[in-house]
Amino acid sequence: MLRIFVFKLVTAVILYGSSIFEAHAANILYTEIEKLSAKHWQVSYQSQTPIKAIMFANSPDDSRIARWQPLSDAFKISYINGREIVARKDATTFTSVTFKLTPTYIHLPKNYAPFSPFSNNAMLLHSGRFFACPNICSGNENLWAMAVKAPAEDNIFVDGISYKIKTSWWDKNDGQKLYIGQQLSHDNGSYIGIVDPELSSEIAKQMELMLPKMMSILEESYGVLPKKPMLFASYSETNDGRFGHQGGTLPNQVFMHWYGHNVYKEQDAAATLWFFAHEAAHMYQHMSGSAVDPVDNWMHEGHAEMMAKKIMLSLSPQYEGFVRAKVSEAKSHCLASVNQSTLVEQVALGNYRALYQCGFYIFNTIENGDARINTTETLWLDYMKEITGNKKVSSDSLLSLAELSYGLSKENNNKFRNLIGNE
Ligand SMILES: [Zn+2]
Repeated sequence: MLRIFVFKLVTAVILYGSSIFEAHAANILYTEIEKLSAKHWQVSYQSQTPIKAIMFANSPDDSRIARWQPLSDAFKISYINGREIVARKDATTFTSVTFKLTPTYIHLPKNYAPFSPFSNNAMLLHSGRFFACPNICSGNENLWAMAVKAPAEDNIFVDGISYKIKTSWWDKNDGQKLYIGQQLSHDNGSYIGIVDPELSSEIAKQMELMLPKMMSILEESYGVLPKKPMLFASYSETNDGRFGHQGGTLPNQVFMHWYGHNVYKEQDAAATLWFFAHEAAHMYQHMSGSAVDPVDNWMHEGHAEMMAKKIMLSLSPQYEGFVRAKVSEAKSHCLASVNQSTLVEQVALGNYRALYQCGFYIFNTIENGDARINTTETLWLDYMKEITGNKKVSSDSLLSLAELSYGLSKENNNKFRNLIGNE
C-alpha cells in the first residue's frame, strides 16, 4: 500500500518538477527551511487545506517551545502528552506558519542533533527534526516534502549532491543530514568528506588515515557499502563549559561533532579512534528490521562497541590496555546500573549509556564463550538475515539465536534476559 503511494508521488516528482507539492500532497505539509544568515534560520510549513494544528513526528523533549519562535504572535507551541503541537491561540484554522530557529548544538535524548554548527558558519542539519504532520501524526507517515533555501555563496548538500540557492526533495524514514556552507566535499577514496577546518590537525589526520582502514576491516565481514558514504565532521565552541563529542550514522552518511573548549580537541587519541570505529561499525550494520522497543537499541550500540574493540585491537594493538579497560568498565557499569533495576527501567530514566555498556558486555560475553574468531560478525549477519521481511527486531530473537548457534549458555541467556527485563 505504502509502496504504491510512494510510486505515485515519485511519478509526480518526475512529471511536475518543483510544482510537485500541488499534485498528490493532499495530506502532506510542505516544509521549507531557510538560512537567511549564519545565525538566522527559519522554517515554514504550508498546508494545501486549512488545518487546526501541526504535530511534529518526533518530540524527544519539549525543547522546541524554547528554541522555535513563531514569527506571528498568533501561534504557540504546546507540549501535550509527550508531543509538541503548534496551533493558533484563538484555535482557528490556518494554512501556514513560520518559526525562527535557534541554530545551536543541542543534545536531544536518543535523537540526532538538529543543528551541528561548523566553526566556519557552515551547518549540518537533521531533516528529521522538521518532519511534521497536518493536525496529527498517526505514526504511519513516512513521506515528507522538504525544501531548503540558502544564500548564493553556500553549497547545499542533499543526498550527497551539491545544490545552490534552493532545492527540494521527498524525505523518508529517519531523515538525513543536510550540509549548508561554503566548503566543498573531498573524496578520499573510501568516503566523501566535509571536515571542519578548525578540527585539530591530529583528529583530521587520524580520521583520514584510520577511517578507510576501519572500513576495509568492516567490509571483509559485512560487504562493501552500496554507496560511498559522506562524512561530516564539525566542531563548535560552547559558552557554558560543556565539551564532548557525538556521532551518528544514517544511510550513506556518518557524522561526528565535537564541541567545547580547544583543549578538548586534542584529547586522548585512543578514545578518538574508538569513537571513529564505533561510528564506522554502524554504517555496516544494515539494520533491516526496526527496533520497536527503545531498550532493543542495546543490540546495535553493543555491536558497534564490540566491533570498535575488534577494530582497535587489529589496527592499533598499542591501545590494548585502553581496550581492556573499556571491556571491564562496560561490564562493571552495566551490572551496577541494573543491580537494583533493569535495562528497560534504566532507558526509561534516560540512562542511555547503559545501552552501550550492557550491549557491549553481552556481545563480549557471547564472543568470549565461542571458540570461533568471528562470532560477533557471523552472529550479526545471521541475525540480520533472520529479521529481514519486516520481522521485528527483538532482544529475544538475538539471544535465542546466540544460544542456538553461537555457544551462549542457557545460564547466560537467562541472566541477560533478566538484566534487560523486557520479557
Ligand atoms: Zn552508536
